[in-house]
Amino acid sequence: MKHDAHGWWIAEAGAPPVLPALTEELDADVVVVGGGYTGMWTAWEIVEREPNARVVVLEAERCGTGPSGRNGGFLSSLWLSYPLLRTHYGERRARELCEASAESVDMVGAWCAAQEVDAWHREAPHLVVSCAPAQDRASVAAVNGEEVVALSPAETRSVCDSPVFRGGVATRSGATVQPARLAFGLRERLLGRGVRIFEGSRVTALHTDRAGGVAAETAGGRVRAGAAGVAVNAASGQVRRLRDRLTVSSSHIVLTEPVPDVIEALGWTGGEAITDGRALLHYFRTTRDGRILLGWGGGRMEAGARTAGRAQVDAEIVEQTRQGLLRIFPMLEGRRIEHAWGGPIDVSPTHLPAIVTLQGGRAWAAFGYTGNGVGPSHLAGRSLAALTLERSEDAARWAWIDPPPKRVPPEPLRVAGARLIRAALVRKEAAEEAGGRADPVTRGLAAVPSLLGLHIVR
Ligand SMILES: Cc1cc2nc3c(=O)[nH]c(=O)nc-3n(C[C@H](O)[C@H](O)[C@H](O)COP(=O)(O)OP(=O)(O)OC[C@H]3O[C@@H](n4cnc5c(N)ncnc54)[C@H](O)[C@@H]3O)c2cc1C
Repeated sequence: MKHDAHGWWIAEAGAPPVLPALTEELDADVVVVGGGYTGMWTAWEIVEREPNARVVVLEAERCGTGPSGRNGGFLSSLWLSYPLLRTHYGERRARELCEASAESVDMVGAWCAAQEVDAWHREAPHLVVSCAPAQDRASVAAVNGEEVVALSPAETRSVCDSPVFRGGVATRSGATVQPARLAFGLRERLLGRGVRIFEGSRVTALHTDRAGGVAAETAGGRVRAGAAGVAVNAASGQVRRLRDRLTVSSSHIVLTEPVPDVIEALGWTGGEAITDGRALLHYFRTTRDGRILLGWGGGRMEAGARTAGRAQVDAEIVEQTRQGLLRIFPMLEGRRIEHAWGGPIDVSPTHLPAIVTLQGGRAWAAFGYTGNGVGPSHLAGRSLAALTLERSEDAARWAWIDPPPKRVPPEPLRVAGARLIRAALVRKEAAEEAGGRADPVTRGLAAVPSLLGLHIVR
C-alpha cells in the first residue's frame, strides 16, 4: 500500500505545473484567498456575473491539491442536513438553502458538460445505510418522501449487497466526481476566462486599506481590491476572528486495486455513493476504473489550525480505515489496497458551513463544511460572488450568512477535550458494531458533545 500525502486522484488527474507566485503590487476588483473549490467557484461565479471583473486568486500551494483534489468525490446537496438547518434557521430558510444546494449539485454537472471537463461526473443517489442496530435511526429524520426516501433492508442490499447493511435512506439528488479532475479543470477554465491565479502565494495578512477596500499581503507582493473572499477551509482558524469557530480533524481514504468482479458480485453497478450511520462515518464508492474507495471521518483532532503532517498521512488511522473496509466488504480480504491518503477537515460545532463577514464588510469567509464541502463549496461560491460584488441576490441573503456564532472552547482545552471525546466515540461505535455496548464512562464521554449542543463530526 502506498501512503502518499496528496492521494491517488491527483496522480491520476496529472497535476499541472505550479503557476508563478505573486511578486508585485496589483489592483483588482476582488481578491480570493485560497484556491480550492470554494475559492475557484467564487472566482468562476464572479466572472459569470461580471465578465470584466478583475479577479485575483492567491493560493498558498497549488490550486486543488488540498482537500478539494483528494476527497471522496461525493457531490451532495444539504438535504440530509435539513433537520439541523431547520432547527437553526426555521423551515422556510432551511428549505431555501437545501433547494439551492441541490441546484448547485446540478450546476456542477452542467458545468462539466458545458466546459467539456471530464471529471468522471456520474449522477447517482447518495445512501446512508445502517451497519449496526445503533445506526438504524441515522438520517431517518431527514426522510421527507421526496428529496430523501427510506429504503428497506432488501432495497438497500439491492443497491449494494454488503452483508452488514440493515436498511437506510437515499437522496434524490447526488453525483460522484473524480475530485482532482474537477479541481484542475476548474483552474484551467478560470485561467481561460482571464482570472489571475498566483500559486505558492500564501496570504500572511488581510486588512482594510485607506481607500475603503482590502489588501491581501503575501511574502512577495500585495493585492489591493474592493472586496475579498476568504476560502481557506481548515486553515480558517488562522484568521483571528474565526479562531474559535471550528476545530480541525482529518479524514483518511483507502483505495483498492481494480476489483470489477467484487463490484459485480455486490450488484453495486449504479455508481451510488454510500455512508454508514456512524458519527465517525465511513463513506464508500466505486471508481470509473473498477476500484472501491472507502474513507473514514475518524481522524485525530489537531491542535489549533494545523492542516499538514498527521492530518495528511496517519498510518494508524489508515489501518483502522482498512479494517472498516473489510468489515463492510469482507469479500475484499486478500485483495490489494494500493493507495492511502488523508486530509484536514474543518469541523464546525454546528456541523453546518457558514459564511462570516470580516474586515468591516469588505471580506467574507466560507468554512465549516465538516467534511461535506464538494457540493456546498459551489453554493458558497455563489454566495461569495454575490457578496463581494454587492449584488442584490438571494445568494447574498441565504440563512448561512452570519448565523449566530457557535463557539468552540479555547486551546489547549479544545484539543484535549476533543481528543478524549473522539477516543470515546471510536470505542463506542466499535463496541456497537461488535454487537455490544461500550462501558458507561465511554458512553458518557461520547454523549458530551450533544449535551453541549455541539457536533464533533459527521
Ligand atoms: C479525505 C477527505 C475526503 C473528503 N470527502 C468528501 C466527499 O466525498 N464529499 C464532500 O462533500 N466533501 C468531502 N471532503 C471535504 C471537502 O474536500 C472539502 O469540504 C472541500 O474540498 C472544501 O473546499 P475548500 O476550497 O473550501 O477548501 P480546500 O480544498 O482546503 O482549499 C483551501 C485552499 O486554501 C489554501 N490556503 C490555506 N491557507 C492559505 C493562505 N493563508 N493563503 C492562501 N491560500 C491558503 C490551501 O492551500 C488550499 O488549497 C473530504 C475531505 C477530505 C480531507
